[in-house]
Parts: sequence; C-alpha cells; structure tokens
Amino acid sequence: MKIAVLGDGRVGIVREDRVYDVGGVVGWNAEDPQASLVRLMSGFDQLKTVIEDRLPACPSLPLSAVQLGPPVPSPSKIVAAPVNYKLHQDEMNQQFQNAAYTVENLGFFLKSPSSIVGPSSTVLLPFRDRRTDHEAELAFVVGRRAKDVPAERAAEYIFGYFALMDITVRGHEDRPWRKSFDTFTPIGPWIVTADEMGDPHDADIRLWVNGDLRQSSNTRWMIFNCFKFFEAVSRVMTLLPGDVVTTGTPEGVGSIQAGDTVRIHIDRIGSFEVNVDYKPGV
Ligand code: MN
Repeated sequence: MKIAVLGDGRVGIVREDRVYDVGGVVGWNAEDPQASLVRLMSGFDQLKTVIEDRLPACPSLPLSAVQLGPPVPSPSKIVAAPVNYKLHQDEMNQQFQNAAYTVENLGFFLKSPSSIVGPSSTVLLPFRDRRTDHEAELAFVVGRRAKDVPAERAAEYIFGYFALMDITVRGHEDRPWRKSFDTFTPIGPWIVTADEMGDPHDADIRLWVNGDLRQSSNTRWMIFNCFKFFEAVSRVMTLLPGDVVTTGTPEGVGSIQAGDTVRIHIDRIGSFEVNVDYKPGV
C-alpha cells in the first residue's frame, strides 16, 4: 500500500494515478498528521483490510490534482548513515583526500527533523560560495518502539520505505550542521509499506539533475544494509514510532545550483522532483 500525506495534512492512499482520501476510515486528524501516522501504523494490521474494503467508496482525486506533503511530517529524529556504499567511499576519498569512514568507525549522525520538506518543494541553498550536494537515499519509517533490536528482527519494526534526498553542504563542519538547513531533507513521494516493498536490498536507486543522470546504483551495494543499520542504531538509542532512518547515498554525488531541478527514483517506491533556489536574502 502507498500512503501519502497531502500538503494540507490529510492522508491519501495512492492507487495507480488516483489518491483516495481514507481519513474518515482510519480516524485521521489533518491538524496533526504525524500523530495520525503513528496511530495508523500501530493499528495497521487490522486497518489494512478495512482500508481495502472501503477504498472504492472513498472520495478520490487524480494524483496530478493534489499537492503531496512529506509522508512523515515531523519525526522525533532523523537518523542517517554516513558513507554506506563502497563506491561512494572511494569517490569521497578521491575528492577530499580524507579517509571516508563507514558506520563501522563513525557510527551515525542525526539530521534536524525541521529540515524535512515534501516531494514537490524547493531546496533553498544557504550559501552562494559553498559547494552543496545532492545525495539520493533509501529511507524508512519506524513502525514500533525499538531498542536493542538484532538485524534478524529489524524488519518487524520497519513500517515502510520512501525516497530521501540528503542535501549536504561540503566542508569541515560536523555533519548535523552541514545537513540540517531548512529544506535539506526532501522526502517522498509516499510511504510504500514493507509488504509491498519486498526486499529493500534489491532496488535500483537513481538521481538526475536537470535530466542528466548523476547517481545510479542498487540498494544491494549498501555496506550496512537496512537491518544491520537498524541494529547499530537501536543499540544506542530508542527508536520511536514515526522516526526516520536513512541509509546513505551511493556514488555520483555532485553539486546543485539555483535553478536546477533534482529528480530521485527508487524501484517499487516511485519518483519525485524538487527545485533548487537560493534562500531569500542570500
Ligand atoms: Mn547521506
């Protein structure tokens, strides 16, 4: 099932090219979409069949007629993997002549939840004279409170998957500073539930800037896969329902400029495209 959050906070189930408003069926409160999502996830095993049964009778609109918001509007945290694809490690070593460490050495970092924006928004560059890069990533939303979860059981705690752009200013500052500017975490276009996603480690992931393919890889090349990364994170901190975990970018990262359009695609999830501009006043 594909679960979208609309720009006005309502929930929608995406079927082919239509969005069905199932808010009345699942008791969704558009004033607090994050709490509504957490509630939906906790009752999903039962709600799933109810949604399927009642979907045809729900009001619907063409996908092209709605504005989508971020499918996880305001998590308590965004946990992110540093270098997590071998070829990206190589390119970071070449470009910056510093050892690009992985989860093994570096652990992980947090991005500010307030950096999240929806799948048709604009990334605002805070500097004209600093290199700012795109990073295409597979991310997931935590469905159940999790602590000390071994990799073999991590799948039970992952509710669904989506695409994420980890926008990053290059430079010497710590990662949370370089990656937490407002608008630096576009996510979308919707959550694909884990059952529909199937194997998250067999999905092509691609990113284009102005139509030019910049990143093209497959999630099978992750160094710490979703489940191993989940174990590493949950050993340190309690993951709460609605938290976002993002799994690192493959090779091909490069800079973005004002005026660019950046498109991401992940198999079985879908695509979205954002614009790039300068932050007002910069
Ligand atoms: Mn990243």
